Amino acid sequence: MNSESFARKRLAECCHLLYDRNLTVSAGGNMSVRLNDREILITPSGVNKGLVNEDDLVRMDMDGNVLSGGKPSIEYRFHLGIYRENPSTNAVVHCHPLHCLALTLKGEGIRSCLTPEGVLLLDQVPTVRYETPGSQELVDAVMEFSDAPAMLMDRHGAITQGRTLEEAFNRMEELEFQARLQLLAGEAPKLPEEEVEKLRGMR
Ligand SMILES: [Zn+2]
Repeated sequence: MNSESFARKRLAECCHLLYDRNLTVSAGGNMSVRLNDREILITPSGVNKGLVNEDDLVRMDMDGNVLSGGKPSIEYRFHLGIYRENPSTNAVVHCHPLHCLALTLKGEGIRSCLTPEGVLLLDQVPTVRYETPGSQELVDAVMEFSDAPAMLMDRHGAITQGRTLEEAFNRMEELEFQARLQLLAGEAPKLPEEEVEKLRGMR
């Protein structure tokens, strides 16, 4: 199996996992992996993430040209922007997780210093202002936090990135876990600052 075939298989598996874990619903969200320094593989527009298969995935170059496959996700531009700004990023995951959305609707950000895993995987999580999906304005808003490992998107969802697809997936899973925990735990105090610093040193 060559590297593109392997990337297709892993990305399709990741879509199914995100869907099965309720991290995204219907055709919502989009995921991509970097194939090399000039090309990425991204999910297609309008296909249910529980049903995406390897052959549906779209190969694009960094200028946004489709090299093979059908119509890419309408959000491909912020994926490309994140790859351009972060040479060590090899995967980007964007979902519409229920509890992340609930937090933004309540006007809250993620308090990721409630548990060790929150600090280790996420640390500071910015919230991207609301802009219309697929718009240049949304791309500009996301790019203000382009190096954040994880970000919330007001009334929309969340974005994570990682050196591997597994790392980006883990961050999305942890982000949704932390959002749910925060909604359940209310105003629980965060970890002491010296413990947060100790954990940051372990990353
Ligand atoms: Zn979206």
